[in-house]
Amino acid sequence: MAFPEYDLVVKSSAIVTPSGIISGQIAVRDEKIVGVLARTEELPAKKTIDAGSDPVIPGLVDTHCHFRDPGYTHKEDYYHGTIAAAAGGVTTVFDMPNVDPPTTTADRLKAHLENAQSKAVVDFGHNASGVVPENIKELADAGATAFKVWMMKDIGRDYPHPPGTSLTNDAVLYRVFEEVAETGLPLYVHPHNHDLYELFVQRSQEQWGMDFRSYARALRGGDGVVLNTAIATILEFQRSVGTKLHVLHLSTRAGIEMVARAKAEGRPVTAEANPFALFVTNDWAKIERHGPFTLGFWVPEDDNPHMWRAVQDGTIDVVGSDHGPHTKEEKEVGWKDMYTAPGGSPMIEQYLRLMLTEVNKGRLSLERVVELCSSKPAEVAGFAGRKGAITPGADADLVVLDMDHEETLHAEHSHYRCGWMSSEDLESKGRPRMTILRGRVIMEDGNVTAEKGSGRLLRPGH
Ligand SMILES: [Zn+2]
Repeated sequence: MAFPEYDLVVKSSAIVTPSGIISGQIAVRDEKIVGVLARTEELPAKKTIDAGSDPVIPGLVDTHCHFRDPGYTHKEDYYHGTIAAAAGGVTTVFDMPNVDPPTTTADRLKAHLENAQSKAVVDFGHNASGVVPENIKELADAGATAFKVWMMKDIGRDYPHPPGTSLTNDAVLYRVFEEVAETGLPLYVHPHNHDLYELFVQRSQEQWGMDFRSYARALRGGDGVVLNTAIATILEFQRSVGTKLHVLHLSTRAGIEMVARAKAEGRPVTAEANPFALFVTNDWAKIERHGPFTLGFWVPEDDNPHMWRAVQDGTIDVVGSDHGPHTKEEKEVGWKDMYTAPGGSPMIEQYLRLMLTEVNKGRLSLERVVELCSSKPAEVAGFAGRKGAITPGADADLVVLDMDHEETLHAEHSHYRCGWMSSEDLESKGRPRMTILRGRVIMEDGNVTAEKGSGRLLRPGH
């Protein structure tokens, strides 16, 4: 044979590359993209996929998911969570540390990664708990890809913020910023002024009782001051220390302005938006209809256009699924008392569909969706060049889209263990038709064929 054979060639008239959408073919060998070429010549390959005019994008990289494993596997586990990821076009996941035991030590992190390795069907890494400053170096050495901190108190319930994941002491948090800066890894912070939150909870409960409406309003009391004061604090810590800071759950007008200022100064600050805030909880009518099964955090209508503008203009860098299942029974409590029901809802399988729907509506370009969901999250997590881009040298993680597929989203068509989701009944147009991980087709038309444990552990610098 004149040419060495490729393992896989994927042809499409709309390949989304870092330098634009091109018509061509992606050549894959040994799990990697070795070339993105014009379609002038027929390449010898063991397998050729001709996607025709269906776009091909890089596999999604989700920097924010909760697989509840170990400790809460009645809600979800690493196997089902990554199956849902593959079905949703997500080929890389970084899960969060609020598991039991939380990943506060190197030994726990090693055990966590071993457990994940035995189950994952997509590539994975772990965002370790950063609440113990003394342990941050050993966690980095043991393979953490980032650190996560909730600015919350242990409020006496075992979930969703068990001891070992949250802190409210500014001095400890400042030391966390210092220690994480030493590692060069990013720090992901869930901003929340807990003292102030308690004031607004008290007022909300007095005025509206204990139900999901009261809970939704409490967090946004005082026009977002609970969130904004926390964002101001961490941005000042970042300015002082220089840590790479990734601000989670950005959803307030003032928070967006603060992040935009920090970025304009050239500081290493990135920000995340969540699909629930863009598609579900930004509509009070949806909250009324599905109650606790929508919450999460309410985004008042006034803040919604600011969020979307930040998603479009790049102030928000990353869409992280915040996939966070709970059982139906656990959520059901929230109709009457949302303060004892857990927040969070499953999302990893639907958010690409919801983003593609916006492409079809003309609100986002397909290139922007790729930046938000693939290339920028890969960069934030430290895997630019390897994940999240269709470019020579990167892993051959690809998603073939069907932009015309219309569907009303229903949990019964998902792979979740919990049997419900916050995107229930949403109309979508556009879906992932095929998911390819390192050159292997792992999902076609919703059927995930990847073997348990075939996902690969991602470690910084490896
Ligand atoms: Zn989360």
